[in-house]
Parts: sequence; C-alpha cells; structure tokens
Amino acid sequence: MIDAFFSEERLLFTPAIATGETLPVIFAFPNEYTVGITSLGYQVVWATLVQRPDLAVTRLFTDGHEPLPAAPALLGFSVSWELDYINILKILESLGIPLWASERTAEHPLVFGGGPVLTANPEPFAPFFDVVLLGDGETLLDPFIDTVVQTQGCDRATQLRQLAQVPGVYVPALYEVTYQSATGPIAQVTPQDSDIPPRPEKQTYRGNVLSTSTVVTKRAAWENIYMVEVVRSCPEMCRFCLASYLTLPFRTATVPGALIPAIERGLAVTNRLGLLGASVTQHPEFETLLDYLNQPQFDGVRVSLASVRTNTVNRKLTETLTRHGSRSITIAVESGSERLRRIVNKKLDTDDIVAAAVNAKAGGLSSLKLYGMAGIPGEMPADLEATVTMMSTLKKAAPGLRLTLGCSTFVPKAHTPFQWYGVNRAADKGLKRLQKSMGALGVEFRPESYNWSIIQTLISRGDRRLAPLLVQVRDYGDSLGSYRRAFKDFKGQLPPLEFYVHEDWATDQPLPWDHIGGPLPKATLLKHRESAIAEFPEGFTPTPTGRKKSPYSGSHLG
Ligand code: SF4
Repeated sequence: MIDAFFSEERLLFTPAIATGETLPVIFAFPNEYTVGITSLGYQVVWATLVQRPDLAVTRLFTDGHEPLPAAPALLGFSVSWELDYINILKILESLGIPLWASERTAEHPLVFGGGPVLTANPEPFAPFFDVVLLGDGETLLDPFIDTVVQTQGCDRATQLRQLAQVPGVYVPALYEVTYQSATGPIAQVTPQDSDIPPRPEKQTYRGNVLSTSTVVTKRAAWENIYMVEVVRSCPEMCRFCLASYLTLPFRTATVPGALIPAIERGLAVTNRLGLLGASVTQHPEFETLLDYLNQPQFDGVRVSLASVRTNTVNRKLTETLTRHGSRSITIAVESGSERLRRIVNKKLDTDDIVAAAVNAKAGGLSSLKLYGMAGIPGEMPADLEATVTMMSTLKKAAPGLRLTLGCSTFVPKAHTPFQWYGVNRAADKGLKRLQKSMGALGVEFRPESYNWSIIQTLISRGDRRLAPLLVQVRDYGDSLGSYRRAFKDFKGQLPPLEFYVHEDWATDQPLPWDHIGGPLPKATLLKHRESAIAEFPEGFTPTPTGRKKSPYSGSHLG
C-alpha cells in the first residue's frame, strides 16, 4: 500500500546520484506517512539528505517504508509531536536497536533526532538518542553529516565526542545530571570533561530564503498542498509562546527573491498553496504578496493560511482568501480579558477582535475561529467572564458569521517567560464553564483535553529521570491514568507528577534545560515574567507548591 504512496509523489528537487561509497541512512517520521509527508520540516530535511551524493537515504513511517538497508549507519527522527515518542520506541524495537543509547554498540546505527519537541527540551528523551540536533536544519545538517562521514571508522565513543564539537549537536550521554535528592529538582548538569562544550547552543539560520515543499502528493493530510514558509518565529513574544521564543529572531522570506519564485515552482504542479509561519500576516511585504496572488492567472488557486494576527485581518486579506477558496480564518486571541492579554503580552484591543470579525464577514468568509486559553498565570474568574462577553459582542457585531472558540489549557514551555509556572488545576473547571456559556451563546466550543495538557506539561518540563517512566507508560497505554500508574511504580525514584506539572518552580531552581543555550538569556525571560506579574490581581500569590485554592470558587460564570 505505502509503495503506491511513494510512487504518487511529485518531487520538486533532484536527488543526488551517488558518485562513490555511500553511507546508509534511515530517516524516519514517528507517525503515519500522511502525517509525516505533511510536515514541512520532515520534507526539507529528507530532501537535504537525499541531495548529498555520499548518503543512501531511505524513509520510514509507522505504516510503511522504502527498502531499508541491512546495516544503517544513521537512523534519524524528525519529532514534531510529543506523544510520538511511543512510536520512536516501537521503531527502535522493530529495527532491533536497543532503546537506550548507552546499550548501543558498533553494530548499531547512531540514532539522532531533531525538530521542535527535541529542540525545546530534549531531556525526557535524552537517554534514547545518541545525538540531538538543536535548532535549524539549514545550519546544522551538513556539518553534522560531514562529521559523521569523516569519523567513519572511529570507535563509537570517539565519534560521539567529535560530533559534540559541532555547534548545535548535543550528545546527551556526555553530560552528567545530578539531583538535589532522588525526588527533588536538578542540582546541576555538567559536561563529562573540559573537552565537551559546557553549553550546546541552539543554531539559528539567518538567511532570507525559507523552507518550501520538496514534494507534493495527494496522500498528504492536506491533499496536494504546496507549502511555503513565509516567516519564521514571531516578533510578538506572547509570554507562553514556544513558536516565538524558541525560534527568535523573526525572519522573513523576501517576496521577489524567494517567495514568488517558490510559489511559481509549486503552482506548476498543484493549485493548492499553504502559506506557513507562526504569524504570516506580519511579513512586512504581505500586501505585495496578496497583490501577486490576486492576479487573474491565480484565480483557480486555493490558498490556505496558518493562524493570523488579529489586527491584520483587513478587508483585502479576507477578500483575497474568499477569492481563493477559503471559507474561514483563524485568530489567536488567548482571552477576552484585556488584563490577561497584557499578562501574556498580546498587544491586542477588544476593538481589533471585533474589527477582525466584521472584516471576515464583509470579505465574504463564512466563519471565524478564535483560539483562547484557560489557566493563564494570574487568571481570575472575571477573566473567563470577559471571554464570554467578548464572544457575545462578536455575535452581535458580525451576525451570521459562524464563530468557533477553540480553547486549550496553559502549558508551560521551556525557554519562555512562563516556564516556571505550573498548570493551574482550576483550568479544567474553567474549560467546563466556558463550554456551558458558549453553548448558551450558540458558539461552537472546541476545548483541548485538559488531561492532554497535563501530559504535554510533563514532557515539556521533564528531565532524564522520566525516560524509564515513558517506556513503562508505553506498555500501559497513553492515557493520563497510565502516567499516574507509572508514577506509582517509580515512587521514590523521581519527583511526583505534581512536581513536574502543577508546581510553580522557584526562579533560582536549576531547570532541566538550563545547560542548553536558547535564543534569549534567562535575565530577559525573568524581566518578561516580572512584567506579567505586575498585572496580576492584588492578593494573587501562587504558592511554591501550586495554587491550593481554586480561584474559580464563588464565580457566577456560566
Ligand atoms: S502572536 Fe501568536 S505566534 Fe506570535 S508570539 Fe503571540 S501566540 Fe506566538
């Protein structure tokens, strides 16, 4: 079946022809083909590898693979979703490779991984990988592969030590972690010796030609889509946002030099275009791009946009989207409360949100999707009530426009100013209250599972002690109950679930990812955190072990 999938691909690059000896490589996506081939990151890394004449690359997905080499030298994973770790473990086992890097020998491939999940916080998965690539593939991949090729013939330990010298290449086994106690926080992370870089740095590509699809296929989750990365990172710096803080600085692809030639290449093979990026409409020449797409020869082209910044939803944008087959637009507002938006650094007035709804309707779109969040640090019941009021205002301002409110729970992410905050237990109740209120308003409400937020947080703030627990969970199934059960099994060997998920961590407590260089110094993150705290209501003092009293008690919301 999957052979048919591969044969239906239209490649937009020319694979290299081997000129001599080649290194056998398996490049895996730990999910199904349809999901993996829709990941722009996977597509681009795969094409980069395939364009090297010194590699023989085969792909592997959970539902099939190309013919695999008997003795691969490298096995790579592109990881973009936390829970896919379960599939990584399955793939390692199916290939007869030990799960633990420490048990691999010369007869096993080097197992490397990259992508946003591992770049943010590789530590819970660190014992499974020989090498983690931190940051942008454009700057990392070639030096990494060059060093792998140059060190063929060296013993494994020497090869890993050489690789650790390449900027952005993190070899977890070369760093020792000590803990304040078995069930307490980290004490410190130190390199094994003075030859190992004390602080591997995430690498940042600074060019103005960004990623574009290297393959188009009707088997992608978005059938036949050609994806173009318009911007990378986001300059808004909302204080919870990994997509901004982890990938700073904000970079844009030049319109005439990069985007237009790329779009022309893609539209030669498909009429479906996806404009990607954390905040595409903030491209300084986005209007020029719209003018280009509004030319008559592109009338049959279907254009999809990732979520856009609310105050850029003008008539020109909504009319362009309508003309190119879109029915809806998505904006992330986080909350109806102006105070909470100040806490998260979302520079947005309620009037901007109303204007976006009015423009969406006037431009011919039939629906507006809004994203919000429950459990933002400093949130009070009145803030959720403000969200209800905002949705009610939007209904009146744009009658007939279908409104959807998607709502997640705040999840702390490494390298952001909110990394020290735990998940507010009251968020679950908040989501339920919003659900009831949206039902009464006739607004479709799509909450993200609160339990899933707990698991996300565990992985987001986890350290190496979690790795054996993750293996155990795999055997129990991936529900929150399985995690709780596994925590019981490991009681006394690592901190409880509450420590990782709900506790607010002291800012002088060493963090599991402190030894990894991110885009911003800790002092900057702390300054942002202070600015957020300045907006907390009087008397709102999170306790060091989490908020014991629900701030929602006594609310009349709903
Ligand atoms: S505007 Fe969106 S992408 Fe940008 S920082 Fe805020 S949440 Fe992140």
